[in-house]
Amino acid sequence: MADDAALDALYQEIILDHYRRPRNFRELPEASCSADGKNPNCGDALTVWLKFDGDLVSDVSFQGVGCAISKASASLMTQAVKGRSRDEAAVIFEKVHRLVTGTETDAATAKELGQLRALAGVAKFPMRVKCASLAWHALKSAMDGAEPAAQGAATS
Ligand code: ZN
Repeated sequence: MADDAALDALYQEIILDHYRRPRNFRELPEASCSADGKNPNCGDALTVWLKFDGDLVSDVSFQGVGCAISKASASLMTQAVKGRSRDEAAVIFEKVHRLVTGTETDAATAKELGQLRALAGVAKFPMRVKCASLAWHALKSAMDGAEPAAQGAATS
């Protein structure tokens, strides 16, 4: 039990650190795509920017206002997907989604998520699940809206 308490404290520390000093907290003027996320129940509102270099996420950033969980999750998200391919980012999205909804049952998979596991605690609080997944849904929207092979297609 003492180990659990220590782990909770560590996760709490990660959340607070990313909330106080969010990583990649800036606009990205040369972004390939962006998407907004809003969580009216909590007042979270953020924008996620993505820049692709071929298939790679060469840069990613966010800005916005929100609670500690939403901001920390967005900050962790930018670190997790930067330098990854589009497919890898999509896989991370799926894993984090299972993590925060409490449906990730494979301990090995959860372990691969590293610092992102700090978000697992929200699974017990449905309101917080939305906070934790906000930036990730924005990430997915941005990626879905920027198909690499869609050059010349409708630009809506
Ligand atoms: Zn929130």
